[in-house]
Amino acid sequence: MLIRKLFKFENAHIVRNCTSDRCKRSIHGHSYKVELLLKASKLDHGQMVYDFGLLKGLIKDIFDSFDHAICFWQQDDADYIEACKKFSARWVSLPVSPSAEQFSRIFFYLAQQILVSTITQNGEGDVEVYSVIVHETDTGYAQSFIEDIENEQMGLLKLEQIIFSEQVQAEWLDPAMYEKLKQGIKFQNPSVDLQVPV
Ligand SMILES: [Zn+2]
Repeated sequence: MLIRKLFKFENAHIVRNCTSDRCKRSIHGHSYKVELLLKASKLDHGQMVYDFGLLKGLIKDIFDSFDHAICFWQQDDADYIEACKKFSARWVSLPVSPSAEQFSRIFFYLAQQILVSTITQNGEGDVEVYSVIVHETDTGYAQSFIEDIENEQMGLLKLEQIIFSEQVQAEWLDPAMYEKLKQGIKFQNPSVDLQVPV
């Protein structure tokens, strides 16, 4: 069984080395739509894969980090990176280029890391990320699956290498959330009072 939750954000970037001249040499933005698809082979006590309300917590916060932010590849020109940090309060530094393909891998990876660090409270089953689709425009999207996440050619992803600006962190519900994630501290979903015996 699959469920799908849609997220939206506005983000600015340059995609170095790409074929399109406008994309590779000019800062520009997109209105992104992200589809997070979760999979489970059993349902929780609410007979759901994973309550949509739970996705409004840490996962929404981490995806929202990219909203009204500029994203840059850590391999980019040092002067460009410095300018991004100097003139934008909200930025995200990435170990890979901010293409739609890499965004889909990064969102898959971050959502999966949060899920495995979350103690569920309502009989949830083997909930995991099945796929992430990132729509960069109305007509173009990239979609990642589990085999894309640890693909060395696509670039290895580590929590330590995805860096959020202080302003981004300050706007999280829990500003220490990402530090806790990196330290392996578990997050706990709210407890649930069952109204009907299961
Ligand atoms: Zn672009």
